[in-house]
Amino acid sequence: MTTASATAPAQGTEEIQDAGYVDVLIVGAGVSGIGAAYHLRDQFPDRTFVILDAQDNRGGTWWTHQYPGVRSDSDLFTYGYRFKPWRGPSIAAGGAILEYLDEVIDEYDLDKYIRYHHRVTGASWSTEDRRWTVEVTRADTGQRLRYTTAFLWMCQGYYNHEKPYRPEWEGMDRFQGLIVHPQRWPEDLDLAGKRVVVIGSGATAATLIPAIASRAEHVTMLQRSPTYYFAPPTTHELAVMLAPLDLPDEWMHEIMRRQYIMQYHWLARTSFEAPDELHAFLIESIRPLLPEGFDVDKHLTPRYRPWQQRIAIVPDGDLFTSLREGKAWIVTDTIETFTEHGIRVSSGEEIPADIVVTATGFNLSVLGDVAFTVDGEPVDFTKHVTWRGVMINGVPNMAYVFGYFRHSWTLRVDLVSDLVIRLLANMQDKGATMVVPTLRPEDADMKLRPFSDPENFNSGYVMRSQHILFKQGDREPWTHMLEHEQEREILPKADLDDGTLVYR
Ligand SMILES: Cc1cc2nc3c(=O)[nH]c(=O)nc-3n(C[C@H](O)[C@H](O)[C@H](O)COP(=O)(O)OP(=O)(O)OC[C@H]3O[C@@H](n4cnc5c(N)ncnc54)[C@H](O)[C@@H]3O)c2cc1C
Repeated sequence: MTTASATAPAQGTEEIQDAGYVDVLIVGAGVSGIGAAYHLRDQFPDRTFVILDAQDNRGGTWWTHQYPGVRSDSDLFTYGYRFKPWRGPSIAAGGAILEYLDEVIDEYDLDKYIRYHHRVTGASWSTEDRRWTVEVTRADTGQRLRYTTAFLWMCQGYYNHEKPYRPEWEGMDRFQGLIVHPQRWPEDLDLAGKRVVVIGSGATAATLIPAIASRAEHVTMLQRSPTYYFAPPTTHELAVMLAPLDLPDEWMHEIMRRQYIMQYHWLARTSFEAPDELHAFLIESIRPLLPEGFDVDKHLTPRYRPWQQRIAIVPDGDLFTSLREGKAWIVTDTIETFTEHGIRVSSGEEIPADIVVTATGFNLSVLGDVAFTVDGEPVDFTKHVTWRGVMINGVPNMAYVFGYFRHSWTLRVDLVSDLVIRLLANMQDKGATMVVPTLRPEDADMKLRPFSDPENFNSGYVMRSQHILFKQGDREPWTHMLEHEQEREILPKADLDDGTLVYR
């Protein structure tokens, strides 16, 4: 049998090349895929696997997003893996996160398993063969490859890395300046002396604006409606207190993780139990950081419940420093039209611009836009339901990683990986070659709910894509998007023999 690690280099032929068999095929070399690979190697060192990624480098999100100032808005103690201590300040630049991932790849010798430029386009399951056949097109040569695998582990993230979301506005074609999306930031963009308008108010806008404010002539944040901001110190005060004790890295990582997990649980719980108090706390904590006379109600008071969308982190209040220094300001209004030299908003004001940055978000993609079939039948995910946010009913031998929207994504990468490892071990113990989440008779009439309940989480990119996403049910294990506080209890104990997973 050919093994994937023996795959010949690309030949540039039109033929489909057999790339061989692996026990597990991981799609995506971002934080999820690298984490999954670590856990797999750690627990099943004898299983063969590859990690395929369409891009030319590791890091997923942190490789795609290279705009000025790009950084996490989670703390890195929980955004870092459970098994690899984070040694820097709580909030980290994109480049530092890439370095951390490089260390993981080096320390656990994962590089030899990663195939870059490998875009997965199709995956077909055959019950007869107990195999997935995975179709790949090389992004660099166009060559087509075919892998087979017993288990598909989808770590593809949640959005399309090639096509960012950019709404069309009237008059864009007559605008004489430059329009840029943060997902496709031109390396050589010169901002010196330029008037920049950043459309959007989410984490990207809040990160980008202070990073460019000192270079540009001025920066306007143009938002339709406000976002919640929180301005913690870049380095947590507990980390500052512990620093003189010179603790081992592992201790520091664990202590800070526990601190942040507790803090985020408090935030999550308060957002449900006392949303008005949390609202007041968030607004009042930034008020002293704003310029005198600033219209907080108009520009910084969201109309939704805190955490119904992600709270954008502004470390050390840097966005507000830009506002105070008069380098940036906020306009809250709707765009009427682009003009030759700027943007006119509904009030009639024209905001002059040489560069417009559309920090307008993502196009969500469902499982990497891979075309799935099961025994020759195309899978229409909108008719399927999640099993614990890890598998999909009717789709055998396939797990996916979808992190938290509110907590650090990576907290879930470790939890899901543990579950997948338990699942693989359970299959091995039973001598099963196939596991498929299957609705029990009592689930047959279960009410299906949208992927995301807008009352719970309603960010634009999720709401725009509900119609293409799979569903959730009204009971366990057909639910997902639970809070980390619940899941860290539920997932490790999840019964893999409760009748909802059928083994053959
Ligand atoms: C600017 C920015 C900042 C963020 N900050 C935070 C934060 O602070 N905290 C937090 O929790 N979350 C944050 N997020 C969310 C972030 O996406 C996740 O934290 C995390 O990086 C997702 O990792 P992933 O590996 O699952 O997916 P991604 O990072 O999206 O990586 C997926 C990889 O899979 C590849 N892929 C996808 N489809 C295919 C295919 N069909 N074939 C081959 N390869 C494929 C892609 O090329 C990509 O490299 C942020 C997102 C952005 C955009």
